[in-house]
Amino acid sequence: MPTQEQVLEALKDVQDPEIHKSIVELNMVKDIRIDGSKVSVTIALTIRGCPLRDEIRRLVTERLLEMDGVNEADVTLTEMTPEERQALFGGDKLQKAPLLAPDSPTQVIGVASGKGGVGKSTVTVNLAAAMRRLGYSVGVLDADIYGFSVPRMLGVSGKPTAIEGKIMPMPAYGLKVISMGNFVDNNAPVIWRGPMLGKVLQQFLTDVLWGDLDYLLLDLPPGTGDMALDVARMLPRSRMLIVTTPQTVASGVASRAAHMAAKANQQVIGVVENMSHFVCPDCGRASALFGEGGGRSLAEELGVELLAQIPLTLALREGSDRGIPIVFQDGTEADPARRAIEDLARKVAAACPVPARR
Ligand code: ADP
Repeated sequence: MPTQEQVLEALKDVQDPEIHKSIVELNMVKDIRIDGSKVSVTIALTIRGCPLRDEIRRLVTERLLEMDGVNEADVTLTEMTPEERQALFGGDKLQKAPLLAPDSPTQVIGVASGKGGVGKSTVTVNLAAAMRRLGYSVGVLDADIYGFSVPRMLGVSGKPTAIEGKIMPMPAYGLKVISMGNFVDNNAPVIWRGPMLGKVLQQFLTDVLWGDLDYLLLDLPPGTGDMALDVARMLPRSRMLIVTTPQTVASGVASRAAHMAAKANQQVIGVVENMSHFVCPDCGRASALFGEGGGRSLAEELGVELLAQIPLTLALREGSDRGIPIVFQDGTEADPARRAIEDLARKVAAACPVPARR
């Protein structure tokens, strides 16, 4: 017959799927009864309508049945009291160092471009996914408030859960994601003015329960608008990645974004040239559909590295439309865009090292 201590020890392995911490550490395990080979536990959920209640019940049941001497598991779900919720979410127990704190270990990387349509969001979500696959804990903050496309590209829908003024990021492929797109109905246009954007950014940075992230990637709006200034002001240690296409005109605009980052004292990690060429799937010939040289000349102008040249591929475009990052699509291992993105992820991780993994 197992003891209560053993049951509690076993339940430490079960994580709350939203908060990513053990249910024991979160004080969610309220009662443990052992009757022969039957174990009954009571788990207090953070909120009554917890969308993941079935998932939590399943995880707890599975873990109990794995224990020696347990043949039956009974899981009762209750709700935390307001005091318990406040104790959990009100303080800063769930996040060691908030993102805006000067000692935050999270590396914040803004992905910027001079104009829309160059693949900035595609690069952001696919780079985030590739970094996740390298084993890092990665968040994606969609700061492209008017033109959000992150939810579609990562297949996240619905509204995030909010508890005691804290917002849970949405899970997707092991990433933590937040976008304005998850707060507005039916893709209704967002028509706020400049000052509101800063408030949304502030809220996404402070009120979202990001947990302890290694990297937070920001998908910035195209151009050199208010949002880029707000990022520089709120996150002076953040760095920039500039996405451009091979067309010189595109680079011309991108360089303004980069120069602004430099003015705000933000380090530019490097340039990513996207849509570099198209390899014909039939004859294998590469065509420079959007010209050549834009990425390299921008990198030289800024005195930074050209970190990647990502070709146009069908798999990358289809993945974006279907909400699946390319590194999570089976059969795309040899895709040249995927390889360029994986290589980019390694270079970004090397350029922005994070403290040793826990
Ligand atoms: P931006 O964020 O700069 O406005 P998006 O990331 O939304 O641009 O990309 C615009 C369109 O181009 C999307 O449909 C996306 O799937 C497609 N796209 C971007 N990069 C590539 C690529 N390397 N290969 C194929 N399609 C791409």
